[in-house]
Amino acid sequence: MEKNMDNKSCRLYGTPHCALLNQKSCESCRISGLSPQEQLMAAEDIYYMAEALPQDGLESIISSGHCALCRKKGREGEEANAASMFAQMDMGHLHPVAKIGDKLSGGYDRGTAMTIPVQLPVCESCRKKIGVKSILPLALGCLIALIGLLVSSLEPMRSALASRARILPFIVFLIFVFIGVIVESLVRRALGVKNERTINTRVKRIPALAPLLDKGWFAIGELNDGMPFVFTKKRLDSGILTGENQRELLDEIRAMGKEGIALQRTAKGEEEREKSEVKSEA
Ligand SMILES: [Zn+2]
Repeated sequence: MEKNMDNKSCRLYGTPHCALLNQKSCESCRISGLSPQEQLMAAEDIYYMAEALPQDGLESIISSGHCALCRKKGREGEEANAASMFAQMDMGHLHPVAKIGDKLSGGYDRGTAMTIPVQLPVCESCRKKIGVKSILPLALGCLIALIGLLVSSLEPMRSALASRARILPFIVFLIFVFIGVIVESLVRRALGVKNERTINTRVKRIPALAPLLDKGWFAIGELNDGMPFVFTKKRLDSGILTGENQRELLDEIRAMGKEGIALQRTAKGEEEREKSEVKSEA
C-alpha cells in the first residue's frame, strides 16, 4: 500500500503508534488533526490498548484461514470450513482512567477511544445462514400482509366482503397482518434454533474471540439477532490493528510505556525530525 505520511509536526510521526494506526495518509488520520496535547493523549490511549490486547494483537484472529463462526460438532476431527470472507465487528474496552464523554477541546473522546475493528474470517455457508435469518422472516410477514391488502381491496372480493358487513374487508386485512406477524416470529425463532446448531451466534461461543473477552473486551452492538456483522470480501486495508507486524509494534509500544512518546521526543524522534527537515530544505 502506498503510504503518504507527511505531517512531521504530528507527535506520533515515525512512532510505532503511528504504524499501528495503519493509515494511508496523515490527511485521512484523525489523530494527525488533533492538538499536540491531544495527540499525546491519543498515544497514551494506544499504549492502554496495547496493554489490554493479546500479545500479537488481532493478527492471529485475522490470519487464521478457518471460519470463526462454524460450530464444530463436538466429535473429533470435525474442522471449521475454510474462510472465504470477513465479518467485521467492533469491540470496545473500558478506558482505565477516562470516562465516556470525557471530551477534550478538539472533540477527541477518550472514554470511547478504546474501540477496535475485529475482522473474523468466515465461510460462505455461515454468511448465508445469517443472511437468511435476517431477511426471510420479515419478507414472509410482509408478503402475507400484502396478500391481505390485495384480498381486502381488489374487486370483486372487496364488494363480496363488504356486502356482508361494511367493515369486513378491513377486518380481513387485519387478520392477514396478524398472521403475518405470527409467521414472522415463528420463522425467525425456528431459523434461530436451526442456526444455533451450526453457527456460533453468540460472542462467548466464538473461540477466536476468547482471548479478547478474557482481557475485558466486549462486542459493540447486538450479536444475537439479525446480521450484526458487515461482511466484506477483503480485509480492511487501513485502520488501527489492520496492518502487519502487530506483535513487534505492540511490544515496542508496551516497552515505551505510558509516556513513551513524550519522553522519546527529546531523543530519537527529535533527531529524525531534524534529519528530515534538513533533507526537505536541501
Ligand atoms: Zn462457517
